[in-house]
Amino acid sequence: MQLVIFGPPGVGKGTLSDSLAEKYKIPHISTGDIFRSEIKSGNSELIQYVEKGLLVPDMIVNKVIENALKQDAYKNGFILDGYPRTTEQAEFLENVLWKLKKKINLVLNLVAPEEAIVERLSARRNCSKCGAVYNLVTMKPKKKDTCDSCGSALAQRKDDAPETVKKRIHVYQQETSPLIDYYKKKKLLVDVDALPKPKEVFNEAVKVIEARIPKK
Ligand code: ADP
Repeated sequence: MQLVIFGPPGVGKGTLSDSLAEKYKIPHISTGDIFRSEIKSGNSELIQYVEKGLLVPDMIVNKVIENALKQDAYKNGFILDGYPRTTEQAEFLENVLWKLKKKINLVLNLVAPEEAIVERLSARRNCSKCGAVYNLVTMKPKKKDTCDSCGSALAQRKDDAPETVKKRIHVYQQETSPLIDYYKKKKLLVDVDALPKPKEVFNEAVKVIEARIPKK
């Protein structure tokens, strides 16, 4: 199963991908997580894009994905979260998968109104150590500003600052949303309402997956 989880920033791609990865026992690849961890390990070249809400250049992102997908860990399937984000990336992905004799089976398009995603992003907090994600309204930590799983301090992602959120939504509309038509034409795209609680979004996504991808 080769799945793409698609949608605007803050719509819940990471949360859904994690639960699907657990259910189907296939790895979840988040380009955003990869870049944030690269920055943490000292790759300062990426800061100018990621922390300002701009796209990392296609050449860099494509290389990361190509190297990942070639590995054995992905041979039985994967869930892509945050990639592709431009038409060039989508075409590159198709080519890489073609070489590996694979293709995308389904693109789940998470849909929510802009007001809802802006609200979600402003309430999002991340553990500065283990990366666990919280929401001050819907998924509060047990102890204020502290991670439930590792006890480290919670912080707001730099790109979740209000001005940067606006920029990310603009970049999504300009560069990423054209992929909706791209995948619609290939009959791979199915909309999933991302407004309900994570568990309900997950159940809906599973329904779509089981209807579209036959079990072996
Ligand atoms: P969100 O989807 O909430 O915006 P992500 O964690 O997926 O957050 O991405 C954070 C940032 O990482 C993006 O704003 C961008 O700078 C960079 N990034 C992630 N994926 C890509 C990609 N496929 N192409 C270019 N840049 C990317």
